Amino acid sequence: MVDFVGAGPGAEDLITVRGMCLLQEADCIIYAGSLVNPKLLSYARDNCEIYNSALLHLEEVLEIMERMESLGRHTVRLHTGDPSLYGAIREQIDALRARGISYRICPGVSSFCGAAAALEIEYTLPAVSQSVIITRLEGQTPVPEGEKLHLLARHGATMVLFLSSGMTERVQEELLQGGYSTDTPCAIVYKATWQEEKVIRGTVGELCKLAKENQITRTALIVVGDVLGEDYELSKLYDRHFTTGFRKAADS
Ligand code: SAH
Repeated sequence: MVDFVGAGPGAEDLITVRGMCLLQEADCIIYAGSLVNPKLLSYARDNCEIYNSALLHLEEVLEIMERMESLGRHTVRLHTGDPSLYGAIREQIDALRARGISYRICPGVSSFCGAAAALEIEYTLPAVSQSVIITRLEGQTPVPEGEKLHLLARHGATMVLFLSSGMTERVQEELLQGGYSTDTPCAIVYKATWQEEKVIRGTVGELCKLAKENQITRTALIVVGDVLGEDYELSKLYDRHFTTGFRKAADS
């Protein structure tokens, strides 16, 4: 059995209880060493075999999983944040299916949730934005034509950019080209929920300068949109004059 486990954004107590229990039971842990907090490995048993996948290619990862399976052992594949975002789990799942190896997936707290907490914001504010676009700037991995940053930027929605903090000049250009104004609020959150967490606030017009000044090139998210500003409307859900499935509107 292989369990894909979301490690959470960094802090070792932000893994799920289920994820922690799986780590405690594992015979083998393959962790994404470039981003997973190594403190999470302290949940492992003494005789657990531990591999850092930053040093391995796909076939080497699969070989370890296959070897463990043939010995009847349990592998945890520990991915940062939630494995569904930029986790490269699909290729592993398909290879396990082809080999008849069973697997399960345990979700995790994504770094974009950690970043919202660090920024003390709600991504979806009434009358400001009701959508969050999670995307990245094209790097080595191509981005489909219809998802180019300047095209997505046209929506003016809340945006969270992964894997792009080393390319802020192009990010800034494309955000402006798409239609955000130079004074649209934006933020860079470096290592959300880690001890080294850094929150940098500014505007789209200053994004590149802020990243340079603070020497941010990796392990950071860029958050863009007016949800970082001051204006919004109160929710209907808790509006005293609004009836919901659970509560009648107040008379006055
Ligand atoms: N599956 C992960 C994302 C993996 S892609 C998740 O759900 O968070 C790796 C990128 O995620 C990094 O380049 C960075 O943009 C972002 N990232 C991961 N952990 C982060 C953290 N603690 N703080 C800020 N950004 C983080």
